[in-house]
Amino acid sequence: MNKELKMKRIEEEIKNCNLCALHETRNNPVAGDGSLDAEIMFIGEGPGYWEDMKGKPFVGKAGKVLDELLESIGLKRGDIYITNVVKCRPPENRDPLPEEISACSQYLDRQILLIQPKVIVTLGRFALSYVFNKFGLKEEKISNVHGKVFVVNNIFGNLKIIPLYHPAVAVYNPNMKNSLLKDFKKLVE
Ligand code: URA
Repeated sequence: MNKELKMKRIEEEIKNCNLCALHETRNNPVAGDGSLDAEIMFIGEGPGYWEDMKGKPFVGKAGKVLDELLESIGLKRGDIYITNVVKCRPPENRDPLPEEISACSQYLDRQILLIQPKVIVTLGRFALSYVFNKFGLKEEKISNVHGKVFVVNNIFGNLKIIPLYHPAVAVYNPNMKNSLLKDFKKLVE
């Protein structure tokens, strides 16, 4: 089965998923978006209001910031693949619960395996925690590790993991935006 079909199957399963309570309140699940041949995969936290309305990741205010950050290093959405730790919106944008993250993790794991990115960029503390645990890195606070490059060896070779702050923190905070702009430059290197 080719990559497109495999991703379609994952998307279909997410559409029909009822493994945690988030399916009861979602309007649309948000599987992910972008190129299946991307070398860089971005992983956020979970859909917010607009993502839940449209079924696409990062289409609200945080998404606008993300687009600006990508543009600052000459990248477009079509150059990357982007998804979230949980695929359905937590009500009122609350933090996803441990049981929701673990129920949803099979989808993210399969997406990573399918895309086999060279670089995973985690956006925010939930993606950082999930990806660091998955690849055997010691859990760290985001303020200590943002913008640093971690290299792990896995079944598809060397993988770089770059933790970044979540773009939502920059929506109303120019200092955080500057910090994110600086960290994004690491992706070019
Ligand atoms: N925040 C996220 O973490 N993911 C989205 O898709 C949108 C906002």
